[in-house]
Amino acid sequence: MQPKGWCPGALRPMLSGDGYLVRLRITGGVVRASAARAIAHGAQTHGNGLMDLSARANLQLRGVQEHSLPALVGALQSRGLIDDDAQAEAVRNVMASPLAGLAPDAAFDISPHIRALEQRLASDVALRALPSKFGFIIDDGGGLSLSCVGADIRFVALQGDASPRFIVSLAGSDDAAVIEAARLPDIAARLALAFLNESRKCDSSPRRMAALVAARGAASLWRAAELAPTTRLSPSAGAPPQCLGHHTLGASEFLGLGFVFGRLRARDLAWLADMAETYGSGELRLTPWRAVLLPGVDAGAAQDILALGSADVISDPADARLAVVACPGAPACASATTPTQEHALALAPLARALAPSGVELHVSGCAKGCARPSPTAVTLVARAGLYDLVAAGRASDAPLLQGLDLHACGDALRAMATTNGARP
Ligand code: SF4
Repeated sequence: MQPKGWCPGALRPMLSGDGYLVRLRITGGVVRASAARAIAHGAQTHGNGLMDLSARANLQLRGVQEHSLPALVGALQSRGLIDDDAQAEAVRNVMASPLAGLAPDAAFDISPHIRALEQRLASDVALRALPSKFGFIIDDGGGLSLSCVGADIRFVALQGDASPRFIVSLAGSDDAAVIEAARLPDIAARLALAFLNESRKCDSSPRRMAALVAARGAASLWRAAELAPTTRLSPSAGAPPQCLGHHTLGASEFLGLGFVFGRLRARDLAWLADMAETYGSGELRLTPWRAVLLPGVDAGAAQDILALGSADVISDPADARLAVVACPGAPACASATTPTQEHALALAPLARALAPSGVELHVSGCAKGCARPSPTAVTLVARAGLYDLVAAGRASDAPLLQGLDLHACGDALRAMATTNGARP
């Protein structure tokens, strides 16, 4: 039995409806083409050949059978893709700007700071008590901002400074401090230890920073970390940046490719590796937006790659398939009673009719709502093979309509699009 809030990794795989789920936390989301091929081979040989790009820029191999786990872990470990032990893996929850070290609009190269924080987290045994979902973000301050992605402790590189510095902030508070970049691992550890100490003083033992800040106030955490906030953040969380298609950033170029529901087959990953080597820098960058970036691809090469790609590769941000999100659903997850992804695709054109961009429909296999914790215009929650419809809310919210089959869901979406003034 996996405890509540438990988070799977490669060394602590999670049993799902289609076998074990093996999650790879790849440093900075940077995957060399050779490593991508090794992962693709492992997914095909030891799993069911399917992988998911997670909302935390991790890569999850699906359908791994128990007897295959040692061979898969051994193959990945030989490539340096897995930590030495499960506790280090669990606490090394760092997300970073996907173009770290490449974006000319970044304040500075954050790559060394990503590695330094990961090393500190993996080696400091006092931090192993952190809840498994407790996470850090290091943002390079460039255009592909991570401001729309949640984190317990966030570092954003400061633009325009002679020496590299970060603004550090806590979830749930606008207070922030400015620190020298070299102090990042130490400051992260102090704030994380402050979180542990302060949360022990709460009856509810909050497991995320925002909940602890709400319970005890941000000032108590800064004090416990022996730090003082010196500035306030202006609200900045917005829509995810548009990274699909070909982009030119000063002297840098990249091609962003999305995948339906962030799902890749082993052959997709092997193909991306080939494209990165043939046309780009030989590297893939994973993003939290269920897309992969190929750095170093010029406009002409982008056309060639798109001509070679399968119909499952998305480069147009207006693609109707981007209007929907869905968890793996049945049969991959034992909690689901409907094939959520198949149904979401069937409803995608109606979801796109609700708005020309963004996610408008979340189809969830149960009220847990794994695919999208934030509110959505329409959420369909499976229950006993039918759907309950939540308007402008989360999967766990009270439904507006209950017991809808797929046809009735389509009717409801059509009616909402008509009310919005759009034409499905
Ligand atoms: S939302 Fe429910 S059905 Fe979907 S993956 Fe999560 S637990 Fe499984």
